Amino acid sequence: MSSPLANIYARLPVSFTHGQGVWLWDAEGRKYLDALAGIGVSCLGHAHPKLVAAISEQAARVIHTSNIYEVPQQTALAARLTELSGMQEVAFNNSGSEANEAAIKLARYYAYQRGNKHAHIITMDSSWHGRTLATLAATGSDKARKGFEPLPSGFIQVPYNQLDAVRAAGDAEPRTVGVLLEVLQGEGGIRPSDIAYLQALRRLCTERGWLLMIDEVQSGIGRTGKWFAHQWADIRPDVMTLAKGLAGGVPIGAMLAAGPAAGVLTPGSHGTTFGGGPLVCAAGLAVLDALESEKLLDNAHAVGAHLKDALARELAGTPGVADIRGRGLMLGIELARPCGILAMRALEAGLLINVTRDRVIRMLPPLILNREEADRIVAILVPLIRQFLAEQP
Ligand SMILES: *Cc1c(COP(=O)(O)O)cnc(C)c1O
Repeated sequence: MSSPLANIYARLPVSFTHGQGVWLWDAEGRKYLDALAGIGVSCLGHAHPKLVAAISEQAARVIHTSNIYEVPQQTALAARLTELSGMQEVAFNNSGSEANEAAIKLARYYAYQRGNKHAHIITMDSSWHGRTLATLAATGSDKARKGFEPLPSGFIQVPYNQLDAVRAAGDAEPRTVGVLLEVLQGEGGIRPSDIAYLQALRRLCTERGWLLMIDEVQSGIGRTGKWFAHQWADIRPDVMTLAKGLAGGVPIGAMLAAGPAAGVLTPGSHGTTFGGGPLVCAAGLAVLDALESEKLLDNAHAVGAHLKDALARELAGTPGVADIRGRGLMLGIELARPCGILAMRALEAGLLINVTRDRVIRMLPPLILNREEADRIVAILVPLIRQFLAEQP
């Protein structure tokens, strides 16, 4: 039987009927520990009562009006986000790609207003910024880009975590207007950048008059144990993008601006029909409230450290385990050879994870994960890894 769906996903053979906390159930009643949270989206887990109540109550009142009217829930969510980030203004949209697209547009408009009509943005190798044409052009994955040329020009890719490479690229291209990066790469294999690099990059951008644009789509909203991963380096970007965890599973994106980037976009220069509607913003407010009142940033930090330590202890000295890294509940285990099959084997064992960059097992569990549940992840995953590595490649 041919599927009515476009063939763009190689799906695992399972679907879920409902969830509770970090657990999901399939149609046969089998239970799975969700250590992926829909790729870093369901930060409160499943069926969180506060999120369910906020969505239900808002849906019963009004779901959509339009951005041609005031949307109080949107203003309230923007106020919370600026307060948590030190940013000044927020433009809402519907996905991570769209948030980054808005950031790219902002940078170009900023350059245009200063007489630079062919702005260049420096981005990083093995980065991920989305699948629209401009965000693909910014993304450091030849595999994702292949076949979709011509892509928008104006992007320069440099090696990640190397300040000299950024400086050299800027020296070579005087029309450079900014730098876009993830401070902890997600799709790129859970690759952190150094605190000193981020602080030096912040200084370099300020010196050169470039916008520092940080993509926190995956790493933001508490995932690493701070509201935003760049806060570990005690810096503030000029532009920041958010999406995945922000509304706990309801589609949302946000682009935040501050300093030189604030006030650049004006009426008529950008917009979107659905962005920042009452329903998603009510969900976003409930997520931020729950993260705060349940102290889930501290939880992500503590339980993430516990999980990482336990994995490191159990896998210590195992040949074929190349690295265990990440921060908070954004963790990766790099193996010495491709291990995509482990996502299927973990599923069969009742654990949801995925594999990125062919060799990196990725965990992005809900931020409500407790120690017992973290130990369960270790108990399921470690034997699977050991068994896999013992097999002939
Ligand atoms: C997922 C992701 C995106 C793209 O978000 P979509 O909602 O899939 O468009 C962009 N940047 C980062 C860092 C991501 O992890």
